Amino acid sequence: MPCFSQGMFYGERSMIRVRPSFYDRFFCKASRCRHNCCIGWEIDVDPETASVYQTVGGAFGKELAEKITQGEIPHFTLCPDGRCPFLNERNLCRIIQTLGEEALCDICALHPRFFNDFPGREETGLGLCCEETVRLLLEERTLSFIEESADGGEERDEWIERLASLRGDLFDILSETQLPFEKRLERCAQKLGMKLPAFEMHEWIRFFLLLERMEQSWGEMLNNLISGTEIEPDAETFNSPRYGIILSYLLYRHFLAAQTEEEARVLFAFAVLSVRLIAALDARDMTECDEHVRLFSAEIEYSDENMERICAKLRERFAFDDCI
Ligand code: SF4
Repeated sequence: MPCFSQGMFYGERSMIRVRPSFYDRFFCKASRCRHNCCIGWEIDVDPETASVYQTVGGAFGKELAEKITQGEIPHFTLCPDGRCPFLNERNLCRIIQTLGEEALCDICALHPRFFNDFPGREETGLGLCCEETVRLLLEERTLSFIEESADGGEERDEWIERLASLRGDLFDILSETQLPFEKRLERCAQKLGMKLPAFEMHEWIRFFLLLERMEQSWGEMLNNLISGTEIEPDAETFNSPRYGIILSYLLYRHFLAAQTEEEARVLFAFAVLSVRLIAALDARDMTECDEHVRLFSAEIEYSDENMERICAKLRERFAFDDCI
């Protein structure tokens, strides 16, 4: 086991906070957004905000009461066309306009941010289901992160810190852009003590077509892709720095969730498969490259069910428990 067995113990009590360098440049595009996140998603209202909304009087209070479906988890009742009922015709939020930004529920206030908390380590990022995040990420020449430490907090966890250190090594390998991307993938796999899985993309796209789907255009893109004979992007396309950056960012978001060595390899394989799929879509239509990343994220990363089904199929298809 060349990667996981390096013994380093992190028992320090200083908290590490990590975020991508582009994080602080994010501003929601609001009405200028092509794919507004207030359309098509069922938005849950946290209990604290739901009770604040119940205190709002007048016509707007009545509308809030009518347009929030109560139940175990209250949520905005989407209009038949999938829009949030509080989104106006100019795609601006009427809750902000009427009650102020502080009246937003947690999801609306925080989206598209994500938070991965571990003992002694807090990692924050912006989700790729947002087109502005995709733009900011792919504007980067190399992906970099801001790490800050703060006193106190829980003791750091040895396993998480080992994974974070290993992930840092993978970032370094992926940033060696003088090497062909395939070579960098092989080196990463080697670092993880595994063989790089050989994906038969026709088979995998057929599988992606069976998954839970949110947007029709995702199915259309996959069907268009599978109808062609050539699915793999050519080596030159695949060497574009964007794929190293996308893969690194997927690892940033998902890799530390692994609880075992096998799971870490599965999550790496998931990230490689994802990038191969995005590159295949790009090769088919170079005019919508950023949209391919956004749709992939919305359809796959933001669906726990789809993520679980893909990881289960990866486990079924390849052996990840054996070290080479
Ligand atoms: S998708 Fe991103 S940019 Fe668009 S409305 Fe949502 S948060 Fe704002």
